Amino acid sequence: MNKPASLPALSCADDYDPNSMPVEKAREVIARFLTPVSATERVHVRAALGRVLAADVISPLDVPAHDNSAMDGYAVRFADLKNDAEVTLSVAGNAFAGAPFQGEVKPGQCVRIMTGGVVPRGTDTIVMQEHVKAADGRVTIGTGHRREQNLRRAGEDLKAGAAALKGGQRLRPADIGLVASLGIPEVDVYRKLRVAFFSTGDELVSVGATPREGQIYDSNRYTIHAMLERLGCEVLDMGVVRDDPQLLERAFDTAADAADVVITSGGVSVGEADFVKELLNKLGEVVFWKIAMKPGRPLAYGRVGGAHFFGLPGNPVSVMVTFYQFVRDALLTLSGQSPVEPLPRFKVPCTSALKKAPGRTEFQRGILSLNERGEWTVRVTGEQGSGILRSMSEANCFIILPTEQGNVTSGTLVDVQVMDGIV
Ligand code: AMP
Ligand code: MG
Repeated sequence: MNKPASLPALSCADDYDPNSMPVEKAREVIARFLTPVSATERVHVRAALGRVLAADVISPLDVPAHDNSAMDGYAVRFADLKNDAEVTLSVAGNAFAGAPFQGEVKPGQCVRIMTGGVVPRGTDTIVMQEHVKAADGRVTIGTGHRREQNLRRAGEDLKAGAAALKGGQRLRPADIGLVASLGIPEVDVYRKLRVAFFSTGDELVSVGATPREGQIYDSNRYTIHAMLERLGCEVLDMGVVRDDPQLLERAFDTAADAADVVITSGGVSVGEADFVKELLNKLGEVVFWKIAMKPGRPLAYGRVGGAHFFGLPGNPVSVMVTFYQFVRDALLTLSGQSPVEPLPRFKVPCTSALKKAPGRTEFQRGILSLNERGEWTVRVTGEQGSGILRSMSEANCFIILPTEQGNVTSGTLVDVQVMDGIV
């Protein structure tokens, strides 16, 4: 396991206010302590989707492997063509994809060729079939052709020995196809990141149990599980842990032994913080931040034993927002992905008026849709309480309102971040 870098540098080197940590600052500090996994495994190309390449994939061959035709037509010797008159050539044979023409094409001859067919020896130019008159084994070709037209050169897409894919890339369907196109059956990928997580709270019951009065179903463990699955992590669901110091200590120990990263939800807000704080000071090094953001203000970050630790808030929306804004990038980095690009944002007009107090970044839940003029606009999902998970479920984007922003009037351009593809 890769032990996270020690945290003490955090407190002395940084001039920050733990009671109002800007979102960007928190991200930047977390990024400093991330040491990616280094162990690798070899997997079949089919099993490599979503995995992170541990090394460049070097092409063993030229792509395409041969000079070939980009069109259906005729392979000719350019020297046979005239720029002021038609010429008639005899058809010496066929070059179909997978069935090359054998032998050499002599002056006065041409070869019928299909897209992907290997360019026959002697020829250097492809004339599209639409540009010839063919009859009785002969073709007549007019003027205006260029040497080497409609021809794809061997190695044009990729040279043998060049990197087809870079180490650190997370493999997508196109990459899987590319690996297969090179005849490579297996690739080296980083091992999956192991992430253990549990919910804290006396009020929580799991799906399947019957809540007593005052109890609620645990939803955070299910959203966290789902988000981790999409990131390609190996997940270790440790259930609900009651607000009991001994039980919590045991859970933290077990999680830190088993995983690279430990994620919890709940128990980091005011009132509970001191108790969890004490415990975590004993088990590792953890800083508690109040992030200048809404939702998701309290966040604990550090290490427990040899594992990275993220203590997310309890409210279901806050859990998702803090996961997307801090944990996601950290997990991608830890799993060996490089680079981890910032999530794209773009500006669209907001058709709702939004309430916003300056001094913190807000992540309101929005619905992006096309208006009757075919333009993208965004509206808010309705009530924005951090306990309203339905607002996340209905949303397809975050409306990100920067720190200094105040109330937003309808029609203002706002930053949005599309959720699909985030995880
Ligand atoms: P806490 O930070 O532990 O005080 O939790 C804040 C709010 O989130 C409380 O209303 C909790 O009941 C709720 N909450 C905490 N954990 C969960 C969970 N796993 N699933 C659903 N709601 C939760
Ligand atoms: Mg709690």
